[in-house]
This record gives sequence, C-alpha cells and structure tokens, in this order.
Amino acid sequence: MSDLTRLTATEIAGLVAAGETSAVEVTRAHLDRIAAVDDRVHAFLHVDSEGALAAAAEVDARRAAGEELGPLAGVPVAVKDVLTTKGVPTTVGSKILEGWRPPYDSTIVRRLREAGTVMLGKTNMDEFAMGSSTEYSAYGPTHNPWDLSRIPGGSGGGSAAALAAYEAPLAIGSDTGGSIRQPGAVTGTVGAKPTYGGTSRYGLVAFSSSLDTPGPCARTVLDAALLHEVIGGHDPRDSTSIPQPVPDVVAAAKRGATGDLTGVRLGIVSEFTGEGAEPGVLAAFRESVDALTKLGAEIVEVSCPNFKYALPAYYLIAPSECSSNLARFDGVRFGLRVGDDGNRSLEEVMSMTREVGFGPEVKRRIMIGTYALSSGYYDAYYGQAQKVRTLITRDFTAAFEQVDALISPTTPFVAFPVGARTSDPYQMYLADLFTIPTNLYGGPGISVPCGLSDGLPVGLQVMAPTMADDRMYRVAAALESAVGTFTPPAL
Ligand code: GLN
Repeated sequence: MSDLTRLTATEIAGLVAAGETSAVEVTRAHLDRIAAVDDRVHAFLHVDSEGALAAAAEVDARRAAGEELGPLAGVPVAVKDVLTTKGVPTTVGSKILEGWRPPYDSTIVRRLREAGTVMLGKTNMDEFAMGSSTEYSAYGPTHNPWDLSRIPGGSGGGSAAALAAYEAPLAIGSDTGGSIRQPGAVTGTVGAKPTYGGTSRYGLVAFSSSLDTPGPCARTVLDAALLHEVIGGHDPRDSTSIPQPVPDVVAAAKRGATGDLTGVRLGIVSEFTGEGAEPGVLAAFRESVDALTKLGAEIVEVSCPNFKYALPAYYLIAPSECSSNLARFDGVRFGLRVGDDGNRSLEEVMSMTREVGFGPEVKRRIMIGTYALSSGYYDAYYGQAQKVRTLITRDFTAAFEQVDALISPTTPFVAFPVGARTSDPYQMYLADLFTIPTNLYGGPGISVPCGLSDGLPVGLQVMAPTMADDRMYRVAAALESAVGTFTPPAL
C-alpha cells in the first residue's frame, strides 16, 4: 500500500469501505507519522494512540459485520484542544486547565465518533484561542511544516500544521475572528468557518460566544465539505444553533470541482485596498481572480464602507465576552488551583490561580473587556462596537444583493517567522484584517490555497451569505480545480 498519510479523506474512506485497507492500518500509519515528525512540528498537545486504535478497530469490526458505514468512516481526525473530549485532556492551550479531563464529549466530537472517524488527539492552539500564530500556547509554539522557523497561523495552528505535515487528513478548528481560515491560508490547507450557529458550540470552551464557530479543516475542499456535513446541523444543546438542515455543501463542492462558474457573480471589496498587504499575496490573489474569470465568474467591485471599523469593533466585542466567559476559571471548578494551603481566603486562591494560570495575552483581553464593559464606559466602547457590528452586517446584506459571494485574500501576509510579531499585539491582530468582518456578520467563510509567494502558501477567502455555506464551497472547489493543491517540502 502506498503511503496512507498522503491520501485525502475521500480516498481513505473509499479504501476502507472497499476493504482495501483497514481503519486500524490507516490509524497506525498516521500515528507513525506523528511519532516521526511531531517533535519538530508540535501540532499535537495530546496524542490518544490507544483511543484511536480502539476506535479504528471498532470501525473495522462494524464493517466486517456488514454494517453500513458513514462517508468518513475510518478516517483519522485531529481535534483542536478547545473542544471537550470525554476522559481525554482538554487544555485550551492554557495552564489553567492543565490536567482537566472533561466528563463529557462536545457535540462536534460526539458526531465525529458516531460517524466512525478516528480521533488521533488534541491539537495545539493559542491560549483560549486568542492569537494568530499559536505562539501564545502555554505549551510552546507549533511550527509551520512549510518552513519550521515560521508560525502556522493561529489560533488553530496545530490543526492546520497537522494537515500540512500529513499527520492527519482532517482536523477541527474554531473560528472567532479567523482562527480556522488564517492558519489554513498560511499552511496551504483548506479551512472553513460555517455560518454562526450552523455548528454546535456545546462543549466548545467559550472565548466570545456570539462569534465562536467550530468548523472543518482539510487538505481539499471536498474533504472539508464532507467533514462539515458530519459535524454540522441543529443541536438542541446549543441555544444559538440554527434549527435548519446543513446546506448541501458536499454537492456544492462536487459541482464546483467541474470548474464551471458561469453565471456566478463575485465581489471584490473596494475597502480592502491591499494597504498593509504583502505584494506577493496581492499578486497571488490577482492571478486567482483571473483564474476565476476564466472559469466563467463575473467579477465586480463592491463597497463595504464599514469594514474598516471591523478590527477595532472586534477587539472590543471579543474581549468583552471573554472577560465574562473566563470568570468561571476560578481555581475551584476546573483544573489548576494555586495557594490553597488552608489559610488563604477564597479570593486569594482565586487571584493566585488566575495569576499563574493565564498567560499575558489572555490577561490583556480580560482587562480590555472588563474596562469596555464597566459602568460609565459601556456605551462608549462595547455599545459603540455593537452598533458598528450592525453596520457591518448591513454592508454584507447590501453586498449580497449585488453578488453571490465576496472574495479577498485570506490574510495580508504569508507565514511570518516565529517571534516576529509577539512584541506588538496590534501587529498580531492585523493577521485577521480580512477574516473578522465575516465573524461580526455571522456568515460563512472559507480559505482555499490559491498560490505561493516566495515559496510560502497564500489563501483566497470566499465569503457567502448566512446559511449559503454551499455557495462558498462551490467557488472554492472551482478555484482548487484550476490552481491545484500545494505540497510543502518534505519534512
Ligand atoms: N486572532 C484573533 C484573536 O486573537 C482570532 C482568534 C480566533 O478566531 N479564535 O482574537
């Protein structure tokens, strides 16, 4: 059998279903690959070899018994450490949850298990999903398989790096401001943020509840769509979950793969002027626009005048929600507890635990958020940001009256060297300049590899109206059919 780790999820599932390989064989190949490269990549915080092999053996047994298996049965998947996994450590990249083994599975993880996918382990991330490089993980950075001296994006850099390093064919991420799409772009992989509420947040450790969206990561658009279909759909355990079926993303990806975009109108946002973006990124984007035109798409310019306020609005809304959400880490209920010697007050133990347990970026967000929500400042900061959010939503609504989807580069720059942006938070925040508007609106967005700049991957983002996730898959798959996929140098 050729190297099983090089296959797409679709190919693996086909081989398993046909009995040409077994889920156990596939899982072993990926565990071996992790053992061979992950000391250099550090995509994983926890590898669950035993659990993975047991799950794989169960899939093989069900197949042998003649049971019908789902479309991704036997395919390994890496899960961002922001989702709870029953009995398996879940740290959110933070010391404050070190040693915590959740008593329950998140809905996403439960659906993955029920679909017969095989969870390999938990992937590295910026602490509490706050960051764009995975350098804010309390457990050390992940390295980009394209160039180990560079970052893999963030906050879901572990999931994206696991794909690019062929440690897993599928992964799960979460996207609050770009944490699925931005790592996808800088690792040459596909990352999709579903419509907010299209995937369940039950068991997703909360950062900013009105923005957090779990979603699929893969090396091809079709694989991402298949994973999207498995994890998506209504969940009564999440009050913001949309009670509608998952848009037909798989059919859309297949349709897109035929390479025909005749009649599709795509908008380029005039306010995304390219200021601050690298020339190589803009060049790859322009070439992709030409490719999309050749496929039959009509390209028009669309004005979204409020997009320029998206970044500042996000950096008030997300920290505000985080300051409230992270209050639950009090040294009593979960994980770490510091200073509990029997003589200290509850308040002292809480404060000592939070001092040791949270890293500097998380503390910065809690402070900004607490300030923005405080009485006397609420209207000027949080209230104002919410109004901007409404204006941005109106920009999207107006844009989608003119075009089927919007396109942009996913990120202003390619993977940067480890350490290059950690001293200035604003430089780090800029990584999500193009992805954040979609989160504030709640619509779906996908990043698909579109070219290289100086040998490093560039991503193109497709943004669609809410619950029109299928549309973005169609466009992304069409582009992929024209430009192909991108393989990093051998590790
Ligand atoms: N980089 C953004 C932030 O730091 C987005 C993070 C995310 O999507 N989880 O908040």
